[in-house]
This record gives sequence, structure tokens and C-alpha cells, in this order.
Amino acid sequence: MTTAATATAEQIKSAIASYQDKVDYLEIRVEQSESTGLSFRGKQLDSVDRSFSLGGGIRACHNGGWSFVTFNGLNELNVRIEEAISQAKLVGKEETQLAKVEPIEDFVPEQIKRDPRSVSLQDKRKLLEAYNEILLNFDPRIQTTMASIGDRFATKTFVNSTGSCIVQERLDINGRFAAIAKGEDGVVRQGFESVHSRNDFDVLVGIEDRVRGAAERAVRQLEAKSVKGGQYTVILDPYLSGVFIHEAFGHLSEADFVYENPKMQELLTLGKPMGIEQLNVVDDATMENQPGSMKYDDEGVPGQRKYLIKNGVLTQRLHSRETAGKMTEAPTGNARAIRANYPPIVRMTNTAIEPGETPLEEMFEGIKEGVYAVRMLGGQTNGEMFTFAAAEGYMIRDGKIAEPVSDVTLSGNVFQTLQDIDAISSDTLYTNGGCGKGGQMPLPVSVGGPHIRIKNVVVGGR
Ligand SMILES: [Zn+2]
Repeated sequence: MTTAATATAEQIKSAIASYQDKVDYLEIRVEQSESTGLSFRGKQLDSVDRSFSLGGGIRACHNGGWSFVTFNGLNELNVRIEEAISQAKLVGKEETQLAKVEPIEDFVPEQIKRDPRSVSLQDKRKLLEAYNEILLNFDPRIQTTMASIGDRFATKTFVNSTGSCIVQERLDINGRFAAIAKGEDGVVRQGFESVHSRNDFDVLVGIEDRVRGAAERAVRQLEAKSVKGGQYTVILDPYLSGVFIHEAFGHLSEADFVYENPKMQELLTLGKPMGIEQLNVVDDATMENQPGSMKYDDEGVPGQRKYLIKNGVLTQRLHSRETAGKMTEAPTGNARAIRANYPPIVRMTNTAIEPGETPLEEMFEGIKEGVYAVRMLGGQTNGEMFTFAAAEGYMIRDGKIAEPVSDVTLSGNVFQTLQDIDAISSDTLYTNGGCGKGGQMPLPVSVGGPHIRIKNVVVGGR
């Protein structure tokens, strides 16, 4: 650990020590970061940013009442702690219920392969410009592009009034590539690709084919005819099955949502059958090199691998210490914040459907007329209901992938849709994403899954 990080931790520890008797619970988080970001829009270099920052947040809880106060420098710490304590006392009216967690002292370094901080802005620009050229020059129908790369290294310090002191390093390296194509009839289509690493700048090197794929998909969609609306057997590719399980189901597993919603408590009673026996859904913070991975969450609770659905049965939900305490369930290490100057709330980490046993080729067998939905364009959820637009689609005819179709939107009720999954393939793929909730976005997560086959899906065309 650097001497600066040690000094910061010591300073926060002694501040907590002098106030911890005055309140039920007190916690201070500090995050020191350095980041760079570059982006192109069309031919133009849109932005070049390089920044250093220090920010933090104090949470206090008294008689069940919470306060959250932010700060930008450690010299104002005591004043801010006093503010946090008096605000918590103002709102507290019941009993503080926090699931118990053993005190932890730990330092978690990031094991970096090629450090983005050792790469010059000039070299990063050259790399990005070359990818942007690939997108722009792919086809005359490509109208514009959005291409960006970024990296952020942060040292996160966590200290609470029950004896935990955790310092974690975190590195994120991102590349995002979008191509927008326009057809003769004025139809606009887009293709998208993204890459992410927690430890290696080289994830951005040598990805010409993946970047070109974004332009290929945009142009291919121009040539596809709109799908005919109706009910179909649908196969989702791993990108879409991952997004489906995160968006439609994962958010409902977040206990802050369940706790406040009596109808959802009933729909999400643990032990309830959710689907076929091969259906397993996992939220796993312990995976290597994934955006949602972490040793400890932002409440100092160890990250875990949890089955939300095991053998088709609802087994667990995602908790912060408060939701676990209130629902008398075990904490799961799912309290996360996008930065230290935001409060931790219940969030997912790396969420996936586990692969099943059906070979991919067999998934398509026996489908007379169906739809193969590929990658995600956008979507929305409203409680149990969801609507997703696939980035690409293909008809399935007599068990074979047939002509491409566009405007594939899938909608339904998540619980019914989970019941309607009738086959799960043995392949799997994880992809990175940014999750939004409670004004905090994008939070790094990943979503994953195999191909899944679903009966009776309502597919909307144009
Ligand atoms: Zn989300």
C-alpha cells in the first residue's frame, strides 16, 4: 500500500474513533482516482480528458435514520462527520437494524498487466483513431460513429465504527464503438461493440475485427426486412439472455425493491418455483477480471457467489446490510456505489444464467417458424413487464437460421417468460455493461448466459 493511502486510512480511523460513541453506526469512504478518456464522433476528435480527483462520503445511522454527507477534501472531515451525525439523529425514529458483519482489515491491490497510466495520451489517441477509421470506412452508408476509450484507476478506503478498515484498488479499462448507418429509404440502423478489462490495457489492442463487427451489424440491419409481428418460439443469444436476466429479473431480486413492495414480496417468496430444473441464475462477485467483481462491497461485506435461482427454484435475493437486517436474511455483499460521494445501494455484480446441457445445434431443432434474437439495442422494464429491442434478428425456418429481420422487439411478463424457457444451451458468454439505478450510472457490471429458448414470446415488428 502506498504511504499516502496508509496515511489516509489512519486519518479516517482516528476520526471515526473520536465520534463512534455518539451514533449507532458510522462509516467513511474515500476514493482517490486518476482517469483518462478520449472520444471520436464521426471524423471529429470529440474529447480528451485527463483528471485526478478525491471524493468521499460519510454515512451515519441512528435509531434507524440514515444520513449521507459528501466531502472533497480530508481537512473538512470533522465538520462533515458532525453534520452527518446530527442529520441522522433528526430522522431516526425506530431501531437500527443492520445485519451483523465481522470486522475486517484488509488491503486489496489490483494485479495489473499493462498499466494504462504508462501509455501516453498520444498513443491512446492513435489507437482510437485507427478503430474509428475502420468504422467510418467500412461502407459508404455509414453516416457517423461514436468511438471512445477510457481508463480509471481508483484507491478506495472504507472505515466503519465496528472496526473494519479496507483499502481496495480498482482499475477499469473500457472501449466503446458504435456505427450508425443510413439506408436509401432513410432508415437508420446502429451497431455496437464494447470491451472491458480490470487489469490490462492490451484489451484495447488488436481488436480490429470486433470493432468492424459493429459496422457490419449496422449495415446488415439496413438490408433486413421488418419482422412480422406475432407469437413465436424465440432463441435469445448469450448477449440478450444476459441482459434479460439482469434487467427483467435481477433488478426484482434487489431486496430494497422487494422490501418496499408487498406484491413483489409475494411474487418473490423464497422457495417458489420459477422455471425448469435446468434454470440456474447466479450473481457472482468473485469472478476474475469482470466489471462487477470485487473482494468487498461498499459496506465492507465480502463479495460472494450467490444462486438467485437454483434448479428452477427461487433461493436468494441481493442485500445491503440494512435490507438483510430488516428481512432477517444473510448479507450478500451487494451494496455498491458508483463513487465514494454516492451512498451504497443494493446492486448486482456479475449476473448470469448458467449454461445448461442442450448442445447449441439442438436448440433450433423442431422450430418450424421462430425468431433468433441477437444482441441488445435497448429496452425498458416496468415491474414484472419488460420490452427489449434486439440489435439483430433472424427468422428460424424448419430448424435452421434463415433470413435476417429487423425491428425485433420482445415483450412479456418476466415470471411467465422464465416459466416458458424450455431449453438452455451449453455455451456461455459474459459481456460488460453499465447499470443505472437511483441516479447512479453507469455502475460496472457484467451480464452473461447461454442461448435460451423461450416459447410463446410476443414479437413486435414495425
Ligand atoms: Zn441494471
